[in-house]
Amino acid sequence: MDRKFPRIVIDRDKLRNNCTQIVKHCEARGIAVAGVIKGAGGLPEIARLYRSCGAAQLATSRLEQMELWRREGIPGPYMLLRVPGLSELPEVARLAGYSLQSDATTLDALNSVCAEQGVTHRVIIMADLGDLREGFWDKTEMVEVCCHVEQGLDHLHLAGVGVNLGCYGAVKPTPENMGQLVDIARAVEARIGRQLEIVSGGATSSYTLVHWGTMPQGINHLRIGETALLAKDLQVDWGISDMDYLLRGTMRLEAEIIELRKKPTHPVGETVIDAFGNRPTFVDRGMRLRALAAFGRADVGQVETLLCREPGMTVIGGSSDHCILDVEDCPRALRVGDVVSFDLSYSHMLYATGRTDIAVVFNGA
Ligand SMILES: *Cc1c(COP(=O)(O)O)cnc(C)c1O
Repeated sequence: MDRKFPRIVIDRDKLRNNCTQIVKHCEARGIAVAGVIKGAGGLPEIARLYRSCGAAQLATSRLEQMELWRREGIPGPYMLLRVPGLSELPEVARLAGYSLQSDATTLDALNSVCAEQGVTHRVIIMADLGDLREGFWDKTEMVEVCCHVEQGLDHLHLAGVGVNLGCYGAVKPTPENMGQLVDIARAVEARIGRQLEIVSGGATSSYTLVHWGTMPQGINHLRIGETALLAKDLQVDWGISDMDYLLRGTMRLEAEIIELRKKPTHPVGETVIDAFGNRPTFVDRGMRLRALAAFGRADVGQVETLLCREPGMTVIGGSSDHCILDVEDCPRALRVGDVVSFDLSYSHMLYATGRTDIAVVFNGA
């Protein structure tokens, strides 16, 4: 195993369990799963594993990650999640089997690019049902654009329609807004005279309706990343207590202690602003034992929200390359050189897996 720190250690067995369980629960309701890997830097090992657990497609927002999958020979099809820019279209046509789309100009341009490359590309047209990120707001316009793809764009195949919720606007997926998407799909089908293959009801947050058994008929596809990769948000942040078939602790960050010393808990001297332009406040708890770990915000974003695995340890702050830990109450007598570990939230995972100087190692078969 790589003994360079910080590093991310991934439990392959837990990850496999989660991907398998999600695919199984969705399949039981007639729902196919796009395995979303973007939160974990598109790691090819995870892409391969999710696909082998039954993901219908592998999905990411970044074309570079698809390029990596292609190089590693990971079986597709690949689905591009972020609506592409015009500059990206040649790569979209070359790498992705599917993409999400929300603009008529882009669709026309993509059709031309596909014609030049001699390929047919599948598109999912996005509706905005209130979360206010991508997607058509005017549903009449959306149906017209779907008809245009079907009838006017020879090198695009209208695979279906989709929605994204719970991202920008934090809008909760419900049987009502899922039903609105199904209605849009039926309106498109009535116009084009055939069934759509994909009615894609969203991401991890929409999985809640699968879990509760309230997903309306007609939604037959979800794009799931976070809850397969970490299994934390729905169980902890949403407080869903009966989802223990998904295992937490799939990934941890391990870091080395580089200094260990008793220090005051309140800075000494006149305070101004910290390295990130914030004006922090401090509680004076007297002299306490603290440790410095060799990673920081450049590696994980916010350090304060990391979950310490070390009993008695808390994160008290950090800077770009340092994490400051209170270890006064740790039963273990820590020393410089010891390795401490943390469970990750989505944003930590996203940042840490995006760094080229953080090693990733896999445990398990
Ligand atoms: C990121 C993303 C997903 C997956 O989101 P998770 O919350 O990680 O499941 C699905 N669809 C789109 C469009 C996305 O950008």
